[in-house]
Amino acid sequence: LVGKDYNYLEEMDDVFISVKTTRHYHKGRLPIILATWFQLAKEQTWFFTDIYDEEFQLKTHGHMINTNCSSFHDHKGLCCKMSAEFDAFINTNKKWFCHFDDDNYVNVPRLMHFLSNYSAREDWYLGKPSVLSPWEIIGKDNQKVIFSFATGGAGFCLSRALTLKMIPVAGGGKFISVGEKIGLADDMTMGYIIGRLVMTPLTAVDQFHSHLESLRIIRRERFSDQITFSYSPQDNYWNTVKIEGFHATYDPSRFLSLHCFLFPYFKFCPR
Ligand code: UDP
Ligand code: MN
Repeated sequence: LVGKDYNYLEEMDDVFISVKTTRHYHKGRLPIILATWFQLAKEQTWFFTDIYDEEFQLKTHGHMINTNCSSFHDHKGLCCKMSAEFDAFINTNKKWFCHFDDDNYVNVPRLMHFLSNYSAREDWYLGKPSVLSPWEIIGKDNQKVIFSFATGGAGFCLSRALTLKMIPVAGGGKFISVGEKIGLADDMTMGYIIGRLVMTPLTAVDQFHSHLESLRIIRRERFSDQITFSYSPQDNYWNTVKIEGFHATYDPSRFLSLHCFLFPYFKFCPR
C-alpha cells in the first residue's frame, strides 16, 4: 500500500486523530466511519460530540468525548469543540494533532506516510487551503488582517511544536475566546491563530479533500495517494468519489466501496 520499507504501524502512536461530530449525526455518519477507516486507527481516533451516547460509546470502545458544547451549527458551538480537541491533544504526548469532520474518509496508512516526511519538532500547519482564503478581516485601527486557513472539512494536521507555541493564546479554552472575538468559524479561527498570532504559514497539501471540491474528478489511480475524502448529498446528486463497488442505495457516500478498493482484504469486501 505504501513504500515497501515503510511500516506505518510503528508511527501510529505518534498521532492523535480527532473527529468532530454532533448528536444529530451519530446514527447517520458514524457507522460508516466505524466500519471502515476507524478499524485502522481505533486507538488513535477520538470523536468529539455534544452528548453522552451509550450506544456509540460502546461501538467506539469508549472513544466518544462529550464536550458539553452546544449542538448548534454556530461559530460558538464549533469553536467550543475545536477548543476541546486542541486541549485533549495537548494533554497527550503525541507528535501530531489531526482534525477531521465526520463526513471525512481518512486513508490512515497514507496519512502516516505523509506525516513521516515532516518533523513534529518543527512548526507545521498542514492542510487544504480554503477556496475562501486568504481571508481578510478588519482589525484594530481599521487595519486589514490577512490570513490563510485550512478547510476543516478536508482535515488538517498540526505538529506538536506548533501547538506548544499556540498554548498561550489558544490553550485551556482560550481558543473559544479568540473565536468569539473575531466571530469566525472554527477552521478560520485556527488559521487566524496560527497565521497571525503564532506566525506560521499554512503548507498546502493537495491530498486532503473536502466536499467543497468536485470529488468525482479524483482519478482512481490516485486514490491510494490521497489522504482524505468526503461526500455531500446535493439536491439531485451526491458529490462523492467516483468508484464502482456496492450499489449506490447501500453505499451512497461511496466510502464502503472506496474502502474496499484501498483495503480489499476487509471482511465486508466482495471477493
Ligand atoms: N457539526 C457540529 N454541530 C452541528 C453541525 C455540524 O459539530 O450542529 C459538525 C459535523 O458533525 C461535521 C462538521 O461540523 O463534523 C461539518 O458539518 P456539516 O458536514 O453538516 O456541514 P458543512 O460545513 O460541511 O456543510
Ligand atoms: Mn460536511
